[in-house]
Amino acid sequence: MTTIYVDNAATTQLSDTALEAMKPMMQEIYGNPSSLHHIGQIAKEHLEDARARVAKCINANPNEIYFTSGGSEADNQAIITAAYNGAKKGKKHIISSKFEHHAVLHTLDKLAKEGFEIQLLDVYSDGIVKVEDVKNAIRDDTALVTIMTANNEVGTIQPIKEIGAVCKEKGVLFHTDAVQGFGHIPIDVVDMNIDMLSISAHKFHGPKGVGLLYCRKGIVLQNVINGGAQERGKRAGTENMASIVGMAAAMEEAVKNLDKNAKYVTALRDKIIDGCADIERHTLNGDRYNRLPGTINFCFEGIEGEGLLLLLDQDGICASSGSACTSGSLDPSHVLLSMGIPVATAHGSLRISLCEYNTEEEADIIINSIHKVVTYLRSISPVWEKIQKGEVVD
Ligand SMILES: *Cc1c(COP(=O)(O)O)cnc(C)c1O
Repeated sequence: MTTIYVDNAATTQLSDTALEAMKPMMQEIYGNPSSLHHIGQIAKEHLEDARARVAKCINANPNEIYFTSGGSEADNQAIITAAYNGAKKGKKHIISSKFEHHAVLHTLDKLAKEGFEIQLLDVYSDGIVKVEDVKNAIRDDTALVTIMTANNEVGTIQPIKEIGAVCKEKGVLFHTDAVQGFGHIPIDVVDMNIDMLSISAHKFHGPKGVGLLYCRKGIVLQNVINGGAQERGKRAGTENMASIVGMAAAMEEAVKNLDKNAKYVTALRDKIIDGCADIERHTLNGDRYNRLPGTINFCFEGIEGEGLLLLLDQDGICASSGSACTSGSLDPSHVLLSMGIPVATAHGSLRISLCEYNTEEEADIIINSIHKVVTYLRSISPVWEKIQKGEVVD
């Protein structure tokens, strides 16, 4: 049995380009960039070269880039920065959405306990935040608007440029978690009016455990990790050189191939969506078209997502029921619930997230396997017959 990996929203396979870029950083170029001797200074050159290259990929300046341990840390630092800087000016109101990643939501929970007022906007059944809602929510004491670029479970793309424009006009800081968006849709921090942005390398064929925070010049970052003076004093710890250089290579590769990959992956995505259209009582969650090229999220009534995943895995298919962070818990996804999907239906969710390494043949196998597994699980489901007769109402 061959493995068909379609869980790219959870993490991706490292690309050959990224791997090759990382190897010398773990062998010959082992210096500490903070060391003054020549071995250290050679490492420092690679660090600053990587910074310039990643900055270019999002149209930022190199001095606006801070390397982090990943998307979660970047989200934490951006939000903490905006909150504490705002509080100094008496601004303690923060606007976000109901279906953000937990790295955002749990940081906001912490701030709520510290006395900040958190307002989470609706995302509606199409999974898209309304610009008008952001506009109406902004107040004189709003310190931050943080809305993700694209949702990690359903893949819907948010109107980031327009939200950024509203924030700019009202003088409110705007952060976006672009972890799912980068590499799949074009990101330009200037054109999209973004003040702070989070990226994670392992979501676009870079290594795990590295990411970056873009922070527009003029915004004073608050430290989350204290210690040495690395990253201009804003993020302590000896730089993860191999991963940083690997991320730079992966970012350039993603940007270079973005159009080609998006076209190819979108065709695979649509093939699977169309191929499953005949399955009764299923829904495609989130807007049909305004979604990432590779992300599909289905709900199948009458079955449990966990059973679906295990049986697909027996066919070699690695998918997800939602976010990797919630798998293992029996609570239905907060993302699906925020979109108004009933609890019982949300339990039967399946996320398929494709990348350019997937093939048409794999898409055919996935379509067949989903039909087979859904039919089987419904045949042993205690509620399926009742659902068909319309007796079960959520
Ligand atoms: C994966 C992900 C994160 C977390 O990134 P890590 O690098 O794994 O910490 C944050 N936000 C979104 C939308 C993600 O998909």
